[in-house]
Amino acid sequence: MGLNVYNTLTRKKEPFHPIEEGKVRMYVCGPTVYNYIHIGNARPAVVFDTVRRYFEYRGYKVNYVSNFTDVDDRLINASKARHQSVPEIAEQFIKAYKEDTGALNVQPATVHPRATETMPEIIAFINKLVESGFAYESNGDVYFRTRKFKEYGKLSHQSIDDLKAGARIQIGEDKEDPLDFALWKAAKPGEIKWNSPWGDGRPGWHIECSAMVEKYLGDTIDIHAGGTDLTFPHHENEIAQSESLHHQTMAHYWLHNGHIQINHEKMSKSIGNVILVHDLIKKFDPQVVRFFILTVQYRHPINFSDALLNDAVQAFGRLKTAHYNLSHRLNESESAANETIVEKYRKPFIEAMNDDFNTANAIAVLFDAARDANIALQNESSTIEELQAYLQVLTELPAVLGLTLADDTDRIVDRDVEALIQNREEARKNRAFDVADAIRDQLKEAGIILEDTPQGVRWKRGNV
Ligand SMILES: [Zn+2]
Repeated sequence: MGLNVYNTLTRKKEPFHPIEEGKVRMYVCGPTVYNYIHIGNARPAVVFDTVRRYFEYRGYKVNYVSNFTDVDDRLINASKARHQSVPEIAEQFIKAYKEDTGALNVQPATVHPRATETMPEIIAFINKLVESGFAYESNGDVYFRTRKFKEYGKLSHQSIDDLKAGARIQIGEDKEDPLDFALWKAAKPGEIKWNSPWGDGRPGWHIECSAMVEKYLGDTIDIHAGGTDLTFPHHENEIAQSESLHHQTMAHYWLHNGHIQINHEKMSKSIGNVILVHDLIKKFDPQVVRFFILTVQYRHPINFSDALLNDAVQAFGRLKTAHYNLSHRLNESESAANETIVEKYRKPFIEAMNDDFNTANAIAVLFDAARDANIALQNESSTIEELQAYLQVLTELPAVLGLTLADDTDRIVDRDVEALIQNREEARKNRAFDVADAIRDQLKEAGIILEDTPQGVRWKRGNV
């Protein structure tokens, strides 16, 4: 069975056929860089990075483009509020984005175009739409003539009449039709601006992606992706702009990840429950955050809570412990892995990923492998080739998901904690209290809190 992907455009799972054999052209809408990213921005970054890694694992060459919106109303407002220029704010949060997504092991895109660096292409794109009658100038603004694009609404499966009922003209807009949307906005006094045939101004948000897709990937691409909230109006408008101009399909497959909830509530500024990645990865290992995001198939909603993340710490720890025990036992032995065992897990893993990148089922395969590895480790008749196979499975397959189970040396692992606690118990039995106290201090420094209970010593990780 080959790869099947769910296409928002057709609302069906479809076999994936690339435009060019062995290659994938993929565009993922990136963040507006006026603040640190929240987990709602992190989810598409992680899931579509995983999609990319899976394609690469299957031998495709992926051209992955993801933009930075570095000029828009929110940046202009932030610039006023913070008395910093728009480019200064953009620079600061592009850097923060790279740090935060880097911690989540998201690979940099092949290209990260910025709106401000794509201005000639954006202006040329708008100009062609004006020339072909799909757009018009009005008091220094330029609008797209939505009704002229007959397929408008095809992505979000809405009719033009449904949309008409909800459309309003904002104060200061002079549009022919409430459904029309801005391609270019005239600059207000003091605002950052670029020169154009329609006077000084800046581009609308939707046009930047159309121009970047055209510039970096071509008139038709394989995959266009983003959060489900971008389906309408953003992606609908991108399709209208690009397909009016090019008279061909913009993207064959439209992929959208589901939304985020916090303790089963919508994440929103007004509720005050927005979780910034910047803060979250101080509290939880970024690998665990990535793992947690991937425990849910990307189209489904995902609920975040400290309790769920703590469960993920435990679950991910089980995978790591299996990996640790295998590498400890094998002690860098170079012998070949038993291929039959490797295939036993590789096959269902690939089947899961071929089913619209079902990382939830792929992760279940990792737990099967970890469980069987633990049994094999306890079985004295297990051969080196068998154990080597489990180690390979628990290295190769997590890597496809951007996860590493190998221990980073500077981090104290559960196994070491248990060993130290045992040493401390021994020391106490032998009345070597200075040794026992030293171990307690060593653990405390590593953020491990011990509790002496009647049932014995319990421990937990404090927030380091
Ligand atoms: Zn976009």
